[in-house]
Amino acid sequence: MIEIKNISKTFQQRTGGTFTAIDNVSLTIQKGEFVSLLGPSGCGKSTLLNLVAGLEHAQQGTITVNGKDCSTPGPDRVVVFQEHALFPWLTVLDNVAFGLKQKGLGKKEREELAMEQIKSVHLSRFADRYPHELSGGMKQRAAIARALAMDPEILLMDEPFAALDEQTRLILHKELEEIWMRTKKTILFITHNIREAVILSDRVLVMSTRPGTIKKEFVVQAERPRDASDPLL
Ligand code: ATP
Ligand code: MG
Repeated sequence: MIEIKNISKTFQQRTGGTFTAIDNVSLTIQKGEFVSLLGPSGCGKSTLLNLVAGLEHAQQGTITVNGKDCSTPGPDRVVVFQEHALFPWLTVLDNVAFGLKQKGLGKKEREELAMEQIKSVHLSRFADRYPHELSGGMKQRAAIARALAMDPEILLMDEPFAALDEQTRLILHKELEEIWMRTKKTILFITHNIREAVILSDRVLVMSTRPGTIKKEFVVQAERPRDASDPLL
């Protein structure tokens, strides 16, 4: 469970003074919940996600995961960005296996675990390719496989499908839904695409432009059984 309590984040401006990007936001995300964050450009979505990731530091408030402080990055929270997520000098296999070094696993074990995740995102045939040899959709699949290989409790996704064409995006929706149903990870998902948010999430949060607060919140068709064969996905 992610608990965000009275969090505020200001940035120093070059011209002097400060800019409040997040203003006293409180929010709880349950374990296994899929929450989307919508809102106009600049309203503070990425800042909020980065705070949960421990990549930014808040001036006020606390963020905890299962009661544990989140002010530094940790393997329990892995981020999937819109792009530039993969190391260009490593193959898909090495990219996915990379983070597993931290877990103190041997090379063979790392590669086996990485291949399992690569298979789960349907990239087995491309495991020896470099990122520049992949399509946009494949790159995002590889980035998702790399995040999953770390087996985090929480996936933080910052517009992961924004750069993809509509057809690829729809395929990845289905795949992400399958991953979510299989792994029951807690997912915080930023998007500008309302349809995507409604289709994928349990709950949608809408942030307002200034001063970085959550304006609206709605639960999405809570009664709808989540099934990978859903024609909406
Ligand atoms: P988008 O939808 O365009 O990605 P966003 O909602 O993710 O926007 P943020 O990136 O969180 O918006 O930015 C929120 C505000 O904080 C913006 O006004 C931005 O200029 C400012 N900001 C973000 N990071 C920094 C930084 N490192 N230094 C100064 N200001 C920043
Ligand atoms: Mg952003």
